[in-house]
Amino acid sequence: MSSIRLSSLTKSFGPLVAVNNLNLELRQGELVAFLGPSGCGKTTTLRMIAGFERADRGAIYLGGREVTGLPPERRDAGMVFQNYALFPHLTVFENVAFGLQMRKVPKSDIRQRVADILAKVQLTGLGDRYPPQLSGGQQQRTALARALVYNPTVLLLDEPLANLDAKLREEMRFYIRSLQQEFGITTVYVTHDQAEALVLADRVAVMRGGVLQQIDAPEEIYRRPRNAWVADFVGIANLIPGRVVDDSDGVHVVETSVGRLRGVAGEITAADSDVVVNVRPESLRLHVQLETGGLDRSGAIPAENQLSGVVEDRAYLGNLADYRVRIGPDVVVRVQAEPFPVFHVGDRVALSFTAEQAWIINADGGVEA
Ligand code: ATP
Repeated sequence: MSSIRLSSLTKSFGPLVAVNNLNLELRQGELVAFLGPSGCGKTTTLRMIAGFERADRGAIYLGGREVTGLPPERRDAGMVFQNYALFPHLTVFENVAFGLQMRKVPKSDIRQRVADILAKVQLTGLGDRYPPQLSGGQQQRTALARALVYNPTVLLLDEPLANLDAKLREEMRFYIRSLQQEFGITTVYVTHDQAEALVLADRVAVMRGGVLQQIDAPEEIYRRPRNAWVADFVGIANLIPGRVVDDSDGVHVVETSVGRLRGVAGEITAADSDVVVNVRPESLRLHVQLETGGLDRSGAIPAENQLSGVVEDRAYLGNLADYRVRIGPDVVVRVQAEPFPVFHVGDRVALSFTAEQAWIINADGGVEA
């Protein structure tokens, strides 16, 4: 049984369609990250699931029960807001106890349940503090405790790490993931931070202009984006336009301005004229181009795709070097390689990659409302 189901969910604000015909099912215990640029409709979707925003059309089911018309307190969804929304005049204990009191849980049970959840989020001993007396991370965990204390069916997180510094944010990713798995609670996690989405989620739902572009496991989203927009939004993309001229032996051959490239594709066939070939920067290997025009064959060079170019820029990132290499009058690619050997600006280089590393997708930029 799906634990969250959204059916044709639609919401407009005046002429703006913020969420457009969204269909989605989350399995029990699954964590799905909603990822997309600012204004793509992530928060509006989350607020509709929580009951803070009313859908214009469509239906919402939580734990198999339709909740579309119900107010937030009758939906059984724990929510953590971006700014935590803790009551500043209540202690940590009182903040966490609040939802239980609203649900008329007996006083003696409340004490025990709050103590248990505070222990789970490592806040034992801080129950008497007020939110302004807590660090950002402690406030965050108080908000998590408040959302989880009444064992909700689903957990809804709206950019829960946005207010923390970079190091704490990274630690909290793993913390939230392990807490979520310990509770086995179905979770929607809204973020515009792709690293966060890729690290945390079982599946990532990529949204643009209110429209779901793709929902898949993180590796699929990165390696096999459904369209050029998703490829470009998640990670660094090298998108080389072309036309499929042959797809007879499983490998597709694409005619491009930098020559014929061989790659693999999902739904693309030779009948789809306009495509782009996406090669991720870490998939491109750099080689010295010899004066004879041949390659330095000191490394094993995958045979399928070979290009030549000139290094236009190099940035040193510590664990790797980030190059911009011009491979044609209109085509510059990013290459991320080990920092040694060093290729300098102006060097003529050869680039190689396998057909498996070249993912062919539809050229159109993805669906927008
Ligand atoms: P962010 O990452 O910036 O929070 P988001 O993807 O969560 O963005 P939403 O907050 O869902 O985006 O907003 C989607 C669109 O709807 C935006 O264009 C936003 O301006 C608009 N919008 C959201 N709430 C309202 C509202 N109450 N009234 C009018 N427009 C709204």
